[in-house]
Amino acid sequence: MGPAAPTGTTNVVAVIGDPVRHSRSPAIHNAAFDAAGLDWVMVALPVRAGGAGAAVEGMRALGLRGMSVTMPHKADVIPALDDLDEAARRLGAVNCIGLEGDRLVGHNTDGAGFVASVREEGVEVTGARVVVCGAGGAARSVVSAVAGAGAESVTVANRSAARGEQAAALAGAVGRAVPPEGVAPAVAEADILVNATPLGMAEGDPLPVPADVLRPGLVVADLVYHPLRTVLLTEAAARGATPVGGLGMLVHQAAAAFEVWTGHPAPLEAMRRGATATG
Ligand code: NAP
Repeated sequence: MGPAAPTGTTNVVAVIGDPVRHSRSPAIHNAAFDAAGLDWVMVALPVRAGGAGAAVEGMRALGLRGMSVTMPHKADVIPALDDLDEAARRLGAVNCIGLEGDRLVGHNTDGAGFVASVREEGVEVTGARVVVCGAGGAARSVVSAVAGAGAESVTVANRSAARGEQAAALAGAVGRAVPPEGVAPAVAEADILVNATPLGMAEGDPLPVPADVLRPGLVVADLVYHPLRTVLLTEAAARGATPVGGLGMLVHQAAAAFEVWTGHPAPLEAMRRGATATG
């Protein structure tokens, strides 16, 4: 038996983005609502660039109970919100909007999702030396969260030096930026390597780091989750490193959003099944 059909009293949440058709959020959240026995539903709403503010006003007018926010709206929704949590304020990006009374509050659950996903694999970030490849939205959330969780050092390797410096600054005193050619010596002294570039999504992509830096004792976390098993993860495992895929972060950031919206503990296993059901 599938989930019950929506009725006149069903609570509605939405994911907004462009493109949003292929978002896994509806599959993840609808699996969670079903497993938790909640009369809630998530729909995907395509919202063009420039439409974030109107979409937030629409959320108020329509009485939506929450919103997931994806590209290109993560920064643009902010002026339309009543408040931000600490992570969203620090990052200048929102991936989840919740309600506190009638106030709309922006959250950013990506970084906490990353930390939860590696902890689930038995990897501790407190005291770890972390190297992050990339300096975009995903990298920034990881840099900020691992520094907040007490990483010993956070090194950002990025093509654009300016963006690399900006991301590293989110780690405060333990952050530093290096150019792409500085990644190998940094990884040689690291405990955790994080790929936060899109490299690995397309067939034939090069690795984000030279293969010979992958070694036993190194945790290699790839934020890319499509494909689930990237070439980086395959190469890491072949060289004795510990691979951690990106699906865990996707599930845990969604779990945090689920808890913001519903106040119920997130049914993680159902969410994981929902995340993989879409391929
Ligand atoms: P983004 O904001 O566009 O940033 C991309 C970063 O990757 C930039 O720093 C860019 O460098 C770098 N980059 C892009 N192409 C590159 C290349 N060919 N060689 C080296 N560096 C390159 O993207 P994002 O939103 O942070 O997402 C990054 C990846 O993380 C995506 O694959 C996304 O699917 C994944 N992600 C996963 C999760 C999850 O829950 N698992 C969540 C969010 C994102 P420059 O600054 O020099 O341009």
